[in-house]
Amino acid sequence: MSVTEALPWQAEQWCRLAESQEAGRFPHSLLLTGPGGVGKRQFALALAHSLLCDASRELEEACGTCPQCRLIKAGSHPDLMVLALEEKGTTITVDSIRELIGFYFLASHYRGWKVAVVENADRMNVNAANALLKILEEPPAKAVIVLVTDHSSALPATIRSRCMRVDFPIPQEGLVVDWLAEQNEKGDIKQALALAMGAPLLAQEYMEDSCLEERMGLVNDLRAIKNKKTSVCNVAKSWMDLGSAKVLKWYATILSDLTRYKVSSTPPHIDNQDMKPVLQEISAKLSLAALLELYRSVTTARRELNRNLNEQLLLESLLVQWKRIR
Ligand SMILES: [Zn+2]
Repeated sequence: MSVTEALPWQAEQWCRLAESQEAGRFPHSLLLTGPGGVGKRQFALALAHSLLCDASRELEEACGTCPQCRLIKAGSHPDLMVLALEEKGTTITVDSIRELIGFYFLASHYRGWKVAVVENADRMNVNAANALLKILEEPPAKAVIVLVTDHSSALPATIRSRCMRVDFPIPQEGLVVDWLAEQNEKGDIKQALALAMGAPLLAQEYMEDSCLEERMGLVNDLRAIKNKKTSVCNVAKSWMDLGSAKVLKWYATILSDLTRYKVSSTPPHIDNQDMKPVLQEISAKLSLAALLELYRSVTTARRELNRNLNEQLLLESLLVQWKRIR
């Protein structure tokens, strides 16, 4: 785990907490909320690092060189605990929360703060949430618990009401475009941001993983199926290799763009800006009703992916549906 800094669009949230710190009323429990990919986890870690760093006063950024920062970098600081889901689709159990409670009741090793970050906090099951509530009601001195979630409404109201809520909305595009350019991201930054609905870290991920090119590949596959240049089975196999979750997400954006072109020749918003002409051309040959039906099937399939389905069969059925629509 490296020593982390808050991101440029998080200055306001950081200042708010620095003020609390300066006034000697730093909250025991925080709830960081907002859409995925805006950097809430990074903010939580930057905050934890700053509280634990020897050189940081009044919530300055962690220095990166003191003994505390070196322990953090090595991933072995005894006063920092990060609770993350081991796998997608799993829940945070009461055992993990008991471990977290045990962590707080061990004496602090260094400056006094003990900080825990709970990622995907909305994934706590009922027993875990009840156990957590006890520590939120009577937190030990200098204990800080940072809950991070993309879905704050999924958390029990009793937990939400015990935390200071810090919102992380989609940041202004200007700040983000500059930041992505500084990260040396090559490619169409604005297109990646449009697909990520403005979430900077998600856009960065898309650019790093060549997602923009893959998405164009999907459109070519769909055209090849229609033109009988390839088989549904071959395409389903290659889509499986790319990763079904990602592929279905792109498939959904392509279909929603196609429906947008059915409604208007100049739709106000298109997800795949860089493929306008080809999408317009495909859309003209298909009916709105058929596109909407397929879009619904893809949306359902995305929800069902977490259950142990045969993914190849699922992709094949969605591609057969594509092949048949007129
Ligand atoms: Zn330090």
